[in-house]
Amino acid sequence: MLSVAEIVEDVRERGGRVTPQRVAVIEAIYGSTNHPTVDEIFDHIADSQPSLSRKTVYQIVYDLEEMGAISLVDVGTGQVRIDPTIEHEHDHFVCTECKGVFDIERTKPTVPQAQAFDFGNINSMDVVYRGVCKSCS
Ligand SMILES: [Zn+2]
Ligand SMILES: [Zn+2]
Repeated sequence: MLSVAEIVEDVRERGGRVTPQRVAVIEAIYGSTNHPTVDEIFDHIADSQPSLSRKTVYQIVYDLEEMGAISLVDVGTGQVRIDPTIEHEHDHFVCTECKGVFDIERTKPTVPQAQAFDFGNINSMDVVYRGVCKSCS
């Protein structure tokens, strides 16, 4: 996982504006280890950034995704989750009790060969494992 400073530098290099609000959102994302929802990020920084609206937080998150600084994953928990781990492909474990999302290292690439299919090319894959996490069991 990259550091907050590295992500901020990355945003700057990609031509993105580095505003205090963006930095606050990036810090909140990197301060969370559990693939937070956008609403959780908003709730977390609402007190320290009173002028920041929920809508703006959503916009910042989508901007960060567009810049490739984060990815957004839908692992079937009802809300899109923010994933700051973008340097390597990995799979996810979802706790069916607390909806916690944990990274699982992918040991070998298993994307099926594209030419095996008539419908088109496969560029990526998502694997979601479900179970009960340590703190819930
Ligand atoms: Zn759990
Ligand atoms: Zn992840």
